[in-house]
Parts: sequence; structure tokens; C-alpha cells
Amino acid sequence: MPELPEVEVVRRGLEAHVVGRTIDSVEVLHPRPVRRHLAGADDFAALTTGRVVLAAHRRGKYLWLPLDTGDAVLGHLGMSGQLLVQPVGAPDERHLRVRFRLRDAGELRFVDQRMFGGLSVSPGGADLPPEIAHIARDPMDPLFDDDAFVAAVRRRSSGLKRTLLDQTVISGVGNIYADEALWGARLHGDRPGDKLRRSDVLRVLEEVRAVLAAALVEGGTSFDALYVNVNGESGYFDRSLHAYGREGLPCDRCGTLVVRVSFMNRSSYFCPVCQPRPRARRAS
Ligand SMILES: [Zn+2]
Repeated sequence: MPELPEVEVVRRGLEAHVVGRTIDSVEVLHPRPVRRHLAGADDFAALTTGRVVLAAHRRGKYLWLPLDTGDAVLGHLGMSGQLLVQPVGAPDERHLRVRFRLRDAGELRFVDQRMFGGLSVSPGGADLPPEIAHIARDPMDPLFDDDAFVAAVRRRSSGLKRTLLDQTVISGVGNIYADEALWGARLHGDRPGDKLRRSDVLRVLEEVRAVLAAALVEGGTSFDALYVNVNGESGYFDRSLHAYGREGLPCDRCGTLVVRVSFMNRSSYFCPVCQPRPRARRAS
């Protein structure tokens, strides 16, 4: 699944290749990716055809393209979505779902095998689509509020990892990045927020930023030419992981074997020595 750094790479690609362009025509090749556009595929095409793309923004893993009408094209890549810029006449991708022909700038293509992602037009959504206004800023955002984040974590008795994955508190931190940041901060994901020190929370936030920044650098190197790509299989995951996916392998810090436990229908990986489990909370 594309995580925040990959989505940011896509945003930058859109900024470089799509912003300032006019959409000459729109072809919806499968209805499912525009299912959130309740008025249907024809309406989606009508609202975007002939419009100029003014910018490329992101909130968490959502992308939006403000149009010259004040509306915005809102997009999410889901599990397998890609946004590609291709020259006119390039062969269609097998899972091509939506094609935007751009004036003098090739085609923007939404390709999605599993179709959990999608596109819609957000009426009046140019500044911030109301559909995503509840999503918190991500820690790479210059307007992210560190103090508010610390306060939110320490107000909750829920485990730290659960809060890291809560899009209304901090956005864009997926399962992999959460595990890596917790390993870096030497904190177990089950540590209750209201038992953490301010310095613990700031340390994990710093680790989240470091992990995201490292992944962004690697994602950025794979983005060149006229190709905006994201597939969630970035080289970062092979080379730089310390915890995630490393069950039974020695911890890079202390050599203890990394442990996997199930967590919210997924997995959590941690070093049982560097990241000791919290003691059970006394019944009150
Ligand atoms: Zn360790």
C-alpha cells in the first residue's frame, strides 16, 4: 500500500507535469474508481473537461487538484492505485481506469488493479475538500502542531501505535512507518499515551519524521522523466527497515530476535528488549 512518502512523490510529479495544464477530455474506463462521485462518471467527466489544473495538494494520503472552477479533483490511491503521466499514444496499461488528455502535455492516467482507490470531484473543494477536512495534517506539513500532537497522545489511555495510526490526530503514518518509528524511539506500541513523558512523545515524532524523510529521499530518486509512479514496493522497504517484516531476525541495535504480534488485523514488529512491553494497567 502506498504510504505517505510515495504519495508525496506523486504530488510532486503532478506539480511538475500536470499543474497549469488544461484537461481537454476525460475518459472513465471503469465505473468503480469514480464511485465516490455520486452523480456518476459522465458528471465527473463534464465537471473536469476544459478545466485548468491550478495546483497539486496533499492531506495525508489524499491528493487534490484545485480546478479553475473552484472545485477540485480529489484522489486516493488505495492499495494499488497509480497516477502516471504518459505520452499520447503510449499503450494503455492493463488496469487503466481513467484517462485525462492534457493540452500539449500527454495524458494523466489513473491505473488501479484492485480499485480500492478512486477519484471524485469535490464541489468548492479547491482550498481543502470538505470530505477530508477531518484528516489531521501530517508531520511533514510545515503547519503540523507538535505541542497539540503531544497533548493529544497524552490525553489518551490508548496505545501509542494506535494513536500514530489515527488519521484525526496525525495523518499519513502507516503501519510500516509506525513500527519503524517506535523501534527508533525504543518504545513499545502498546505503551498507553497517558503514561508517556512529553520527551517520549517528541522522540517518537522525531523518529516518524526521520523515517518519512528517508523514504522520501529514496522515493524521489525513482521519480524521473515523464513518469509519476507509486507502487508501495519502493526500494526503501528492502534496505532500510529495522523492525517491520523482520520477525525472527536479529535487532540491528541489540541482536535480540524481532517479534511479530497481530495488531488491528495487521502485524506489529518490535524488539522485546529495546521496546519492552508496558506492564499491565491495574484495574481501577
Ligand atoms: Zn533491540
